[in-house]
Amino acid sequence: MRRILVSACINGRPLRYNESSVTVESEIWDRWLAEGRVVPFCAEVAVGFPIPRRPAETVGGDGSAVIAGVARVKEDTGADVTDQFLRGAELAVQRAVSKGCVAAVLTDGSPSCGTTYVYDGTFGGGTYEGKGVTAQMLADAGLRVFAENQLEEADAFVRSW
Ligand code: SF4
Repeated sequence: MRRILVSACINGRPLRYNESSVTVESEIWDRWLAEGRVVPFCAEVAVGFPIPRRPAETVGGDGSAVIAGVARVKEDTGADVTDQFLRGAELAVQRAVSKGCVAAVLTDGSPSCGTTYVYDGTFGGGTYEGKGVTAQMLADAGLRVFAENQLEEADAFVRSW
C-alpha cells in the first residue's frame, strides 16, 4: 500500500497554533481514507507543543535554510524553537518511513508543513518561497510533497507508482 503522510490538522483535529484545522472537501480525500492510505501526523504536537501555542515563523530563510543551520525558527515572543522543529521533522520522517509513505500532503504556509511558502519571521504577513522544516525533511527523505490544494496531483503521483 502506497500511503500518504498528511498534516493531522487537515480534515482532522484543530491542532494548529490558533486551535484551528484545515478543511478539504474532495472525493479524492474520501477515497484515500476508504483505501487506508492516510497517515495523519503533526510534527509540532509530536514534540510537545501545546494547543493553542505561540505562532512561529522561520527567520533568515525557509525550512531548507533551517536544516542547513543558517536560519532559525522563532516564536513571536522571540523564543528560539529551532531544535523542537527539527526534532518534529525527524519524527515525521520516521513515521513516514515506518508506514510506507511515498508522498505527503501538508498544510501550506506552516513553518513545519509549508510546501510552497512559509512566513518570513516578521509576523507581518511576508513570506519566503520554499518549504517548512518538516516538509523539507520529508522531501529530502525522498517523499513527494504536495500542498493541501494539490490533491489531484498527489493522487496521480501515488497511482503512478
Ligand atoms: Fe498542522 Fe503541520 Fe501545524 Fe501540525 S505542524 S498543526 S500538522 S500545519
